[in-house]
Amino acid sequence: MTRIDLHIHSTVSDGTDTPSELMHNAAAAGLDVVALTDHDSSAGWAEAAGTARTLGITLLPGMELTTALGSNVIHVLGYLFDPDDPALRSETERITTDRYTRAKRIVDLINREYPLSWDDVLHQTVVGTTIGRPHIADALVAKGYVPDRPTAFADLLSPRSRFYVPHYAPDPLTGVRLIRNAGGVPVLAHPATATRGRAVDENYLARLVRAGLYGLEVDHRENTEPGKDWLKSQARLYGLVQTGSSDYHGRGKANRLGENLTSAAVLEQIVHEGTGYAVPASRR
Ligand code: AMP
Ligand code: FE
Ligand code: FE
Ligand code: ZN
Repeated sequence: MTRIDLHIHSTVSDGTDTPSELMHNAAAAGLDVVALTDHDSSAGWAEAAGTARTLGITLLPGMELTTALGSNVIHVLGYLFDPDDPALRSETERITTDRYTRAKRIVDLINREYPLSWDDVLHQTVVGTTIGRPHIADALVAKGYVPDRPTAFADLLSPRSRFYVPHYAPDPLTGVRLIRNAGGVPVLAHPATATRGRAVDENYLARLVRAGLYGLEVDHRENTEPGKDWLKSQARLYGLVQTGSSDYHGRGKANRLGENLTSAAVLEQIVHEGTGYAVPASRR
């Protein structure tokens, strides 16, 4: 059986393994195909692809694009898009630039009550990292204020916290179109979780499908069981593919590589659908 995990993060965003370490860990976990899907960045593709080649596993290039509907943050996975597409690039640059400003604001607010500097946060990143709350969480852990990321997210970094600041993100329809127009394949990430509920209602999902949505991430640890049933019925209704993935973040989350998998048939459809980036035939 081909083992396929289509959603993992590296130090390019909020994972703790470098792209290269990630490929080694993926091979060790018995995976044959992995998609690197860092938040709002494709900066890890080259390093991951190089290491994947030496290990004999296949890298499917991807990204987890941040979008928002009002105050609800909705993640859209994109595969096989052209990383140099001007519209997608300028949008991800706008998002990551505002993520930076927003993270600084959060740190300033926290610093009024718990001494914390911007340098403390930068120490938790590498050059070019898509900065997010997880890096602030890591700085809070290093300071000894909280034991781990989940504790930081439960309180100081929660959206209900007095320290919370949102950041710019396009709406999901725009996100889906940007990925499609760059030749990519858009899949809605973890769309039915307990904490956030349904990412979108049935009307909005229908609009996303008309905009080019290709799949739903059904098998993800954060989707509830009734949520998965709903997603499967919507996938059947619109002929969307169903994916399964770990959303591995290294030491940043409990999610383990390969804990959920995608079928070879679905991978085949995604590879066939993506036109923005060629995966060499020998590595498919
Ligand atoms: P941000 O994009 O900066 O708003 O931060 C959101 C990110 O934080 C998500 O991509 C998750 O990977 C991560 N995250 C959210 N909740 C938790 C949690 N409880 N524990 C660890 N990481 C989390
Ligand atoms: Fe994340
Ligand atoms: Fe996500
Ligand atoms: Zn993710």
